[in-house]
Amino acid sequence: MTAASIVLYIQKLCTNYISRPTQFKSVLEVSITPSFKCKDIGMECGFEASAWTKGSLMNKISKHAAEAHNMKEIPPDVLEKIKKAIK
Ligand SMILES: [Zn+2]
Repeated sequence: MTAASIVLYIQKLCTNYISRPTQFKSVLEVSITPSFKCKDIGMECGFEASAWTKGSLMNKISKHAAEAHNMKEIPPDVLEKIKKAIK
């Protein structure tokens, strides 16, 4: 092995090492953790939430809806909008 090829080899190892956590993180953010923003359903509100499951995200949203939007029960039409807005 020449010195140049060793450097290339180490650079390749480093690149692999660095790129993996990023890919892992973006996979987590994009396809696993669902998220929701009040703005997505046309609310004048800066609330946004994400959770590990849709169920716990819905819990966060319904708690926020009760506290900030005075919705003790989320009306069915709003619920439909929320479900469509969850990414
Ligand atoms: Zn809100």
